[in-house]
This record gives sequence, structure tokens and C-alpha cells, in this order.
Amino acid sequence: MFKFDTSNLTVRIFLGMLAGIGLGLIFRQFVSETEDFLIPLGIIDISIKGFFVDGILHAGGQIFINSLKMLVVPLVFVSIVCGTCSLTDPKKLGRLGGKSVGLYILTTALAITLALTLALIFKPGEGIEQVSSGNFNAKEAPSLVQIFIDMFPTNPIEAMAKGNMLQIIVFAVLFGIATALIGPKGKRIAAQFEDLNNVIMRIVTILMNLAPYGVFCLMAKLFTYIDMNAIGALLKYFMLVVVALLLHGFITYSLFLKFLTGLSPVIFFTKMREAAMFAFGTASSSATIPVSLETATHKLGARNSTASFTIPLGSTINMDGTAIMQGVATVFIAQFFAVDLTLNDYLMVVFTATLASIGTAGVPGVGLIMLAMVLTQVNLPVEGIALIIGVDRLLDMLRTALNVSGDCMVTCVVAKSEGELDETVFNDMHAGLKDEEVHFPQKG
Ligand code: ASP
Repeated sequence: MFKFDTSNLTVRIFLGMLAGIGLGLIFRQFVSETEDFLIPLGIIDISIKGFFVDGILHAGGQIFINSLKMLVVPLVFVSIVCGTCSLTDPKKLGRLGGKSVGLYILTTALAITLALTLALIFKPGEGIEQVSSGNFNAKEAPSLVQIFIDMFPTNPIEAMAKGNMLQIIVFAVLFGIATALIGPKGKRIAAQFEDLNNVIMRIVTILMNLAPYGVFCLMAKLFTYIDMNAIGALLKYFMLVVVALLLHGFITYSLFLKFLTGLSPVIFFTKMREAAMFAFGTASSSATIPVSLETATHKLGARNSTASFTIPLGSTINMDGTAIMQGVATVFIAQFFAVDLTLNDYLMVVFTATLASIGTAGVPGVGLIMLAMVLTQVNLPVEGIALIIGVDRLLDMLRTALNVSGDCMVTCVVAKSEGELDETVFNDMHAGLKDEEVHFPQKG
């Protein structure tokens, strides 16, 4: 008989997720954003909405997300310093940067091209009648020059306080290089940072063990309130984004892995399950950094000197899933408003979507802000976003899973090309599983 191995963390997170979705689907029969249901318990009545959904589940979910985010800045800073100060060849840093940025931009451009092509073939925006009202304020896409300038912090503490990933990376890399350059004194500092890194990675492990409960709370609240009717009305758009995400994930990434590294895509995707579930549950590639880093180093076998750099970098500049949503959404909105886009416009969409992803942090819903930039560039009404906003949260969770998988795929490719990937670890299906256990030292 088929049995769930509940000692396996991936299985537990998955069960937490299913149970949360199930509870949310039950709760939604009784409550909504505006309605409540009271369970009479003799002396007091317990409100499902106030006590369970907006109380316990909301708190549980937020505490889980906040705890993950709490680790991001210290982890990125410490692990990049560790990574850079152990680099023996200074040219390597330039190569790492060049290869990862190049691959991130290439995969994002491919993703949006795939999305535009599918949307032009299947025309999701034709025959749509429902228009929900809503406002969306567009920001302008940043210029390339400004993106470069903004990478350099005037105040590293401020960069950390604001969680500005690119600025933190620049400062950490400089700090790491300088540490390597000062000889024996630097070795002492490097050793301290190594220890700190181990401590922070342990906190990551503890949090991962709490993930089944966190994900349960997040899913239960989300599915209590989520607007399922919107999916029906936007089924074609929804399905098209999902198909494009799957194609890009399973085909494009497999091809990259197979042809650039010879590594097995099946092993890669099997090992990505946990990080993908975290990304799905949190809808934030930034909050998932700790887990992606753990996956890339302990399970996929990339050395920290590569992964500590490529993973945080990818969480801000690589958003293939988001680019796919933007591609399909742009065509959808153009078709809805019966606007004909020219080839130039489409190139503009590819360019703006790729550029917009560079300076934007991977947090929930940020894709819509980037979409507003894209629409403005090609003179489409930004109000069109109101059409698709109803299904965006679910799509956000799915595309974040792709974003995170893309970061890890590029990490494998770059690490392999630099001789920084341990293939024994990659091919070992049990690699990293021991690291996920939390045991307190016993006395005596
Ligand atoms: N939530 C996505 C991420 O964090 C960004 C988005 O598509 O909204 O990667």
C-alpha cells in the first residue's frame, strides 16, 4: 500500500500545504472577507474569521514569512563574504558575474518571448467581457544607467536595513575581496565569517522544519478568501500562463542543464521540490533565498563561493516566471482593448520586462508593478491590470516557484563551468537530507 514517509521534510511540507488548502476550502463555505460565522460554545461564541482565519492562521503565516525574511540580509552578507574571501583567482569573480548575469538575462528574454508567442497564437484576450474596476499606478521603468548607479550603496547599513539586494551584494563582495587581500589577519576574519555562516544556516534548518506549519497557515488563509470565480472568467489567460511556466521550466531549463552541463534534469527537479514549495507558499523569491541557498549548496552540490553570489543575485535580477506572466498579460490586455501591437512594441516589451526585473526585489505581487511599466512603454492602458488581478495571487505563487528554480538552474550551470560543482553531491539523492535534521546536543 502507498504510504507517506512523514519523516521526509518535503512530504511534510506538501502535507501541510494540502491540509491548509483543504481547511481554507472548508472555511470559505462559512466566511468571506465581509462575512463571519460564529461557533457557539456555551459561554462564548468563537468567530471563524476573527479567531481562526484573521487570528491564528494569519499570525502563524506572517510569523513564518517574517522569520524567513529576517535571515535574508545576514545570510546574504555573510555567505557572500565567505564565498569571495575564499576565491583564489580574482578574475573568477568577473567571470562568475558575467556568466550569471548573461544567463539570467538570456533565460528571462527567452521566457518572455515564449509567453508572447503562445499568447499571440492562443489569443487569451479575445471574447473577454468581464471588466473589474480598479486603479493601478504605474511607475516608470528605470534606465539602465540608473540601475548601475543604484547598485552602489552610499550607506551599506541603510542598504541592509532596506534589504536592497544588489547594494548588499556589492558591499559584501568588496568586503570579501579586501578580507582576502589582507593576508593572515583576513584569514582570522574569514574563519569568523565561516562560523557565522554555519550558525545562520542552522537557523535556516530550524525554520525549514517549521515550514509545514507555516505553509499550512498561509494556504489556509489564502484559500479561505481567494476569488475562485475569477479563475473561471480568466481561464484561458490563467491556463496559458501555467502552460508557459511549465514549458519554460521543464523544457528550457532541461535543455540548458543537459547541453551546458550534462547534468540530469530529473535529479535537478527532484531536488528542487522543497525550494519550489517554499517559493509557492511564500510567493517571494527573496524570502526563499535561505532555502534556495541551502538547496544549491547541500543538495545540488554547488560550492558556496558560487552559490552565495548567484542565488541572491538571481532573486532580484532573474524572474522568468514573472516575465512570462507579463508577456501573456500584455497580449491579453492589448487584445481586450483591441490595440494592435507592432513588432517594435513586442521587442520593447521583451526589453522593458527584462530590464524591469533587474532592479526589482522578489516579493509578492511585484510582477504587477513591473507589468505596469511594460504597459506604459507600449502605450497600453495600465487599468488593464485590473482585468487580471483576480487570478494574480495564484499565478504569483506558481511563477515564484519558476523564478527560484531558474536561480538554481543557472547556479548549477555557472558552478559546473567553473569546476565548482560537486557531481557526487548532485547525483546523490540523499545529499543534504541529514543537514535538515535538528538535533540538540545531549548532556553527558
Ligand atoms: N513574487 C515574485 C517573486 O518573488 C515576483 C512576482 O512575480 O510578483 O519572485
